[in-house]
Amino acid sequence: MAESIEKRVAKLRDELNRHSYLYYVLAKPEISDQQFDKLLRELADLEEMHPECKSPDSPTQRVGGQPIEGFRQVTHAVPMMSIDNTYDEEDVRAFDERVRKGLGGESICYVLEPKVDGVASSLRYENGVLVLVATRGDGRVGDDISAQARTIQSVPLRLHDGGDLPKVLEVRGEIYMNTADFQRLNKERAAAGLDVFMNPRNLTTGTLKQLDPKITAQRKLRFVSHGVGQVEPMLTESYWQWLTLLKSWRLPVNEHTTYAKDVEEVLATIKSFEEVRGKLPFQTDGIVIKVDAFKQRARLGVTSKSPRWVIAYKYAAEQAQTVIREVDWQVGKGGTLTPVARMEPVFVAGTMVSNASLHNIEQIRRLDLHVGDTIVLEKAGEVIPYVRQAVPEKRPKGAKPIEPPKKCPSCGSKVEKEEGTPYIRCVNPDCPAQFLERLKWFCGRKQMDLENVGDKLVDQLVAKGLVKTFADLYRLKKEDLLELERMGEKSAQNVIDAIEGSRTCGLDRLLAGLGIPHVGNRIAYVLASSFGSLDALCQASVEELLAVNEIGPGIADSVHSFCHNKAGQHVITELKSVGIDPQMEVVKPAAEGSDSARPLAGQTVVVTGTLPTLGRTEVEEMIVKLGGKAAGSVSKKTSFVVAGESAGSKLDKAKALGVAVLTEAEFLKKIGK
Ligand SMILES: [Zn+2]
Repeated sequence: MAESIEKRVAKLRDELNRHSYLYYVLAKPEISDQQFDKLLRELADLEEMHPECKSPDSPTQRVGGQPIEGFRQVTHAVPMMSIDNTYDEEDVRAFDERVRKGLGGESICYVLEPKVDGVASSLRYENGVLVLVATRGDGRVGDDISAQARTIQSVPLRLHDGGDLPKVLEVRGEIYMNTADFQRLNKERAAAGLDVFMNPRNLTTGTLKQLDPKITAQRKLRFVSHGVGQVEPMLTESYWQWLTLLKSWRLPVNEHTTYAKDVEEVLATIKSFEEVRGKLPFQTDGIVIKVDAFKQRARLGVTSKSPRWVIAYKYAAEQAQTVIREVDWQVGKGGTLTPVARMEPVFVAGTMVSNASLHNIEQIRRLDLHVGDTIVLEKAGEVIPYVRQAVPEKRPKGAKPIEPPKKCPSCGSKVEKEEGTPYIRCVNPDCPAQFLERLKWFCGRKQMDLENVGDKLVDQLVAKGLVKTFADLYRLKKEDLLELERMGEKSAQNVIDAIEGSRTCGLDRLLAGLGIPHVGNRIAYVLASSFGSLDALCQASVEELLAVNEIGPGIADSVHSFCHNKAGQHVITELKSVGIDPQMEVVKPAAEGSDSARPLAGQTVVVTGTLPTLGRTEVEEMIVKLGGKAAGSVSKKTSFVVAGESAGSKLDKAKALGVAVLTEAEFLKKIGK
């Protein structure tokens, strides 16, 4: 290889690493995203043309490699111990006294760092190259999350070498997510009908558990250093100096880290940080206080559980008191009524809060909530406001306990209790509130995907009486839209275009959009590919529905009743009247007899997790076409399992039962593709 190319590659890598550090760690970019991408592309092109230049520590290798089968366990060279918590000033003073006594009255300096709430992990570098990332686990043994952590932009794949890199360097720290990224992801998940995460820590854990690093790569995790593992040779005597070294190697260090000469300074920092912490881009519920000098740390030693030279001060969960003005019962698309407390607006943990879900009537009774009650609202690590308790001494005279409505607040129909759950629901199929929610669902990204028809527009369309059924969407004219608030010529046209564009959408998406109980995207696909049209589905008996793989009695009843009740039939007739009647090819097994065409005849196959290139349903189609049966759950009768990322419990079960597990590649080989 020409030396000049080698040099150019090395230079590009160093430049890209430096710009990543400026951007992701220091938040002080020197070049634009486009310029960065240009450099990255140049490097990728060079590596493509000169494969001998390729290297796992290249900045081109961050996008996420192949999914892994599962997490390998690794033993930490130096255990990762947990830290004791304290909650008040007295405890901090007692800690300082213990430390001073342990050191025979020597003077001590402390380093204070914000406690970042994420997943504690260890990064191991050998000769400057990242070789292993592991979670803390139980402190002794953790999970190898190298594939996932390599996608985190602030984790250097290669350290910047100022000529002083230790041969072995283990830096401990926290993998976490910023609050803004957390909220954005939750919003996207909610819009896609997925569960939301309670706090950034849960989401970080969930993201690192993804077997497919490509998913981790999309979620914008971050890393911040906060500790020392195995280091050979050790170059410094104190943690404060250590942090300076980390920075010189371009490892991220928390910029709010400070130094304190004695316990009074420690307490002053704890106080002043309380003001700051709510304004930081990440969530922090405390401060970690560490003895600075490594020699002193060694002399203090460890207890069975935690080091004696460190303690975490945790702030009390941020709480605020406010008053419940009233409780609204919100009607969901399936008719479930959820109580929402409307409160006097109050500032808590950085935001103004005036609504909080009370979840269900059992929760209300447990807290003994009355209208007019003063309540304690909490938003600790949790981003979602939570009603902790009522303050009964502040209860106004004659306050009434909160009772569930007997009638639907939207349509006035009788409400019923859902068997076996603490929920109540409106059972009127024509309930306007339910329709509104169903219409929002229908337009959603995973259903009809009407990009320009958001919740606010749906509210207006229904309020003005322009849309009374799904089909009415397809009858809208541009003139109708122009009468709406803030609707210009161009946006009106975009809405019309989006609606027209959805005419070609598949039967599976339409079925998912109808909001039939128990019919999500997956089941909608199964139904669509088994019946092929709305007509065929409506003619199916419960038995015929049950004969379809994956359709159980609950789903079969639900679909059958939708197709045979007046409201469901009306929905379908209306859609057909505006030309929405998609057809789909029914997936049929290859003809009997020709064994070569049916290599999977008699075999039951379970597909689980996300596969590298094929969709799960695509693989299931192949299985059926090749004479096999695609099943939803693993049993002793399962012939084999095709597993991808996040395979979870089905994979575990297959392993426990000794059922063969194939990767996508192995499966394709098996069927001769
Ligand atoms: Zn209702």
